[in-house]
Amino acid sequence: VLSGTGLAKSFGSTLALAGVDFGVQRAEAVAIMGPSGSGKSTLLHCLAGIMRPDAGEVRLLDQRIDTMSEAQRSRLRRTRFGFLFQFGQLLPELTAVENVALPLMLGGTGKSTALREAHQWFPNLGLTGLDKRRPGELSGGQAQRVALARALVSGPAVVFADEPTGALDQATGTETMRTLVASTKGQRASLIVVTHDASVAAHCDRTIEIRDGLVTSDTSRPAPVEALAPSGSGQPASTTS
Ligand code: ATP
Ligand code: MG
Repeated sequence: VLSGTGLAKSFGSTLALAGVDFGVQRAEAVAIMGPSGSGKSTLLHCLAGIMRPDAGEVRLLDQRIDTMSEAQRSRLRRTRFGFLFQFGQLLPELTAVENVALPLMLGGTGKSTALREAHQWFPNLGLTGLDKRRPGELSGGQAQRVALARALVSGPAVVFADEPTGALDQATGTETMRTLVASTKGQRASLIVVTHDASVAAHCDRTIEIRDGLVTSDTSRPAPVEALAPSGSGQPASTTS
């Protein structure tokens, strides 16, 4: 679905990416691991059209995205990609359900339709009854599940997550990761997740390791059984934009 070839990126004299080839299949979950400063976030940003690589190509299906204008990339990010980060991604003054509805409203969906679609995510993500809470009234794990609903609500082709469980304790992180993998697969979306935690990576179909801006290993492995179980975390395809 999404692929990068020969990706290179420097910041001044720092070579953050030194020629990376990387691709993700439809509904595949891939973990990116590697030491701090190895280029994981830079790779994610280049693939997601947030940052332009100095060299190489990024393609979503047949579309070359690295050469698009910022306006085109911004539109693509809003319509085809979902994002999940470590902290501070929910708008504190909006309720949980308004946060989830926001990408739909930015895409032109009317408020009542957007709120109705946003609502549908709450039971499946274990958030029943929490739709009117503000982010400050949610636990870390609950807030991440609301952020996950927001990442999925527009029916993205690819979800990008940078250390999504980094601020959670082990048990909550594992549960959040399980939900993340199951619900992106339920939507037939691909998942690219940066993590330092091998137990988080174990929930993915594949792990790549980056060192000094190069991919040093790419391990295919069968998906864990629970990641594929129809646990009810996916949404019906009808919400896909
Ligand atoms: P971490 O695990 O600590 O998040 P990372 O693998 O995500 O690390 P990157 O953020 O991709 O690492 O950074 C790769 C290299 O590029 C590092 O040496 C970093 O200091 C440098 N770098 C990243 N972004 C910038 C920037 N905007 N300006 C200057 N240097 C940068
Ligand atoms: Mg990083």
